[in-house]
Amino acid sequence: MDTNFSADDLAFREEVRAFLDAQFDDDLLALLRGPDGVKSGMVEWQRRLYKQGWVAPGWPKEYGGTGWSLTQKYIFETERALRGIPDVVPFGLIMVGPVIYTFGSAEQKQRFLPRILKSEDWWCQGYSEPGAGSDLAALQTKAERDGDEYVVSGAKIWTTYAQHADWIFCLVRTSQEGKKQEGISFLLIDMTSPGITVNPIHTIDSKHTLNEVQFDQVRVPLANRIGEENKGWTYAKALLEHERTAIAGVGDSKRKLSQIRTHAAQEKWGEGCVLDDPKFASRLAAIEVELMALEFTELRSLASAAVGKGPGAASSLLKLKGTEIRQSLDQLHMDLAGYYSGIAVEPGESWQTIGHEYGSDARVEFMYGRAATIFGGSNEVQRNITAKYVLGL
Ligand SMILES: Cc1cc2nc3c(=O)[nH]c(=O)nc-3n(C[C@H](O)[C@H](O)[C@H](O)COP(=O)(O)OP(=O)(O)OC[C@H]3O[C@@H](n4cnc5c(N)ncnc54)[C@H](O)[C@@H]3O)c2cc1C
Repeated sequence: MDTNFSADDLAFREEVRAFLDAQFDDDLLALLRGPDGVKSGMVEWQRRLYKQGWVAPGWPKEYGGTGWSLTQKYIFETERALRGIPDVVPFGLIMVGPVIYTFGSAEQKQRFLPRILKSEDWWCQGYSEPGAGSDLAALQTKAERDGDEYVVSGAKIWTTYAQHADWIFCLVRTSQEGKKQEGISFLLIDMTSPGITVNPIHTIDSKHTLNEVQFDQVRVPLANRIGEENKGWTYAKALLEHERTAIAGVGDSKRKLSQIRTHAAQEKWGEGCVLDDPKFASRLAAIEVELMALEFTELRSLASAAVGKGPGAASSLLKLKGTEIRQSLDQLHMDLAGYYSGIAVEPGESWQTIGHEYGSDARVEFMYGRAATIFGGSNEVQRNITAKYVLGL
């Protein structure tokens, strides 16, 4: 790969390495393992990136992006992932930020974008509802006009990190007329508004990440609507494309693959290592080939973004393959853990913790990562989108 990098790119890579090694330090790790479950650690990490001018590589330079070339973005992402450094929390920087700078008013850009860049506001995503997940356009949370405000009532579910959030971006129904996609609007709602209740949903890994958010006659200024009334579906779809592209996680899977290779190369009580087993080696090689193909697909998608095109339906392919590869790697890692059970892989490291290096209460669920094929739109639904818009079936 080095042979493809120019001297400037190699100098940039050294700069990135030096920054990541110096800034992702033990103090930060301690914060990430803190009692509020990643919040203060992530805010601190994003502030360090902001100070360096590197918090939003995907944004246009005029709004605070880095202005990096495609290769520079690739280098940064690879170096981050190779060190096991978590990606930024997506809701502000990857999801609503691009919607605001693309479709928002001048006032909205001025008000929200700098605070997102500085991690002064923590955002969450209010799309899914108890009766509207895959069929998102069936959502029923309604917003009725009353003077210069909307009155919002209904419920959102699976809202990640709503317990930390200052703001929620929400899809709401503003009309029952016509096709269901045509009556949806996109609102930015202050989480301190009277009438909002956040109820925790505790998951099998005993974590509190997910929530149900209830809205009881919540008053939201009309000025907090993105773009036109009833056109929210267009903005929502643009956001989902960014979300799905980000979920592909090529860099993180590359790190996982290299971890598995290292772990599988260990001797077990003089019986040789698992990497020498042809069946295991061929499983590993098959995933590696898929991962390389995904990497090139992602690079193509980045290249089209560089000339101003959105990721489009290809983002579904990235999400689909990226999460399948991640789960295949997790499965392989678990099988390996069974073989080597009882052996700590590195001093102080146990098989329970290798799947999630910065969390405080790492558990086997993190090694499986089952949720990835559900969030961001389930993989079955991504197959439908791919069949229709990519393959033209
Ligand atoms: C960990 C996690 C975090 C999440 N965070 C958020 C968040 O922050 N904000 C938010 O808004 N949402 C969030 N979600 C919700 C997520 O987007 C939905 O779970 C997802 O869209 C699926 O919707 P559903 O759960 O209602 O399942 P359903 O839509 O009820 O689907 C059930 C099953 O039926 C299948 N299915 C449904 N329709 C079809 C079809 N047409 N063809 C083939 N198969 C189909 C699905 O693939 C799935 O297997 C999160 C989910 C998870 C698991």
